Amino acid sequence: MRAPESGVESKFGQVFRCPVCGAEVTVIRGASGATLAPRCCNRPMLLKNSRTVGYRCPVCGAEIVVIRQGGGELRPRCCNRDMVLRAA
Ligand SMILES: [Zn+2]
Ligand SMILES: [Zn+2]
Repeated sequence: MRAPESGVESKFGQVFRCPVCGAEVTVIRGASGATLAPRCCNRPMLLKNSRTVGYRCPVCGAEIVVIRQGGGELRPRCCNRDMVLRAA
């Protein structure tokens, strides 16, 4: 993990963790050109190597993210269609 002191360009799926209290946040919607530098406990949060996995419905645009991976095969569906993996 590294501390993005001056911020990073936010991308979907990035996970930041507070080194003090262990709080974790994930980017649901990134923005190019802007720098994201979340802080917690008066400290910059650290960028984790792991990423959040998300899916999007190609029909209605509904978006979901995986909060906790289980051991099974995850195949989310919406509007009678398989949802597609969101690119980071
Ligand atoms: Zn904290
Ligand atoms: Zn849908």
